[in-house]
Amino acid sequence: MKNFSNYTDYSTKEELHFESKAVHGALGTEPLTGAVSMPIFQAATFRHPELGHSTGYAYSRLENPTRQELERTMAILEGGIKGFAFSSGQAANMSVFSLLDPGDHIILSDDIYGGTFRIVGDVFGKYGITHTYVDMSDLQAVRAAITPKTKMFFVETPTNPLMKVADISEISKIAKEAGALTVVDNTFLTPYFQQPLKLGADIVTHSSTKYLGGHNDTISGIVVVKDNQEIADKIHVHIKSHGSQLAPLDSWLVLRGIKTLAVRMDRHNENAGKVAAWLREQPKVKKVYYVGFEDHKDYAVTKKQTTGFGGMISFTVDCFETVQRILKNVDMIMFAESLGGTETLITYPTTQTHEDTPKDVKEALGITDSFLRMSVGIENAEDIIADLDRAMNEV
Ligand SMILES: *Cc1c(COP(=O)(O)O)cnc(C)c1O
Repeated sequence: MKNFSNYTDYSTKEELHFESKAVHGALGTEPLTGAVSMPIFQAATFRHPELGHSTGYAYSRLENPTRQELERTMAILEGGIKGFAFSSGQAANMSVFSLLDPGDHIILSDDIYGGTFRIVGDVFGKYGITHTYVDMSDLQAVRAAITPKTKMFFVETPTNPLMKVADISEISKIAKEAGALTVVDNTFLTPYFQQPLKLGADIVTHSSTKYLGGHNDTISGIVVVKDNQEIADKIHVHIKSHGSQLAPLDSWLVLRGIKTLAVRMDRHNENAGKVAAWLREQPKVKKVYYVGFEDHKDYAVTKKQTTGFGGMISFTVDCFETVQRILKNVDMIMFAESLGGTETLITYPTTQTHEDTPKDVKEALGITDSFLRMSVGIENAEDIIADLDRAMNEV
């Protein structure tokens, strides 16, 4: 049986398919007792047998067996050398941006997650790190944004909330030529549908609050480093220094979520396809943003780099009154921030997730006062559609 200390055999899992890897994780069982569910090692510190000897654990801010199982599992699933679990997706992204030095320049997707917008502007701006937003689905625009100081490309694909798709392998090539790192926030599709490290990216981040955790019951984040040990070492120093590590209980919740990731993603994918098709037929719906439509402008890129479309849909309706009516009348569907859980949630990005994005930027992007975003859950699709139908059309 495997044990904690000599565990290095990610490669022995290579023959398994993704679903099996997700269920069985890294160690899978707990080596001392055989417990099938990795225990929650709720310990701050670890006893040493004698001077110069260690179990491999000293203090839970540095390493914790439950967190380590999650970190190793994510490294396996994303195909990297090292995973890290953080107290939130924000903390994960903070660590990645902390790799930069004063004077460095970042290129980011233009309709990026609102919190990432805040990190590069409010937090890192004052350290002399500059940034440019570009439409990453436009490779010409990406190239034009490069400066001699560009050190990082931070890509969200599909984007939030406009569902634009960036070509990860092309952007990784452009970044490499410029001597910059490619980071992909893989929150929306997860490694079940999209594996950025295999497409050329250097680092993957997640808000595992979303699909990886999958049940809207924990806030957490993940970073996986592809092959650069130096970067992995730096991120470990960030976790140790920022104190941004994920707690044991929350690590366990995400590990448990990951076991069902594949089946949940399949259902999210199936349901979102049905809901998107239905929305498109509605007289009150003006435009539906969904990467699974064959006439989506980036459909070819999606088909090339992903194995599914995910569960996210955005749409605009005819007027603000329809927005109010939907948000007030939904019953099974909940009007709430966040995404990626078993429950269908509907969000109003203009004042919620993208509150801090400047109004002119939002308007230019199309995030208007009649814009809604839906995280389609794993309920029965007919019930989701019936609820939306009633909420939208009830007088
Ligand atoms: C939610 C989210 C984040 C931030 O994650 P938290 O877990 O809320 O801190 C970052 N990126 C994307 C794409 C997200 O959806």
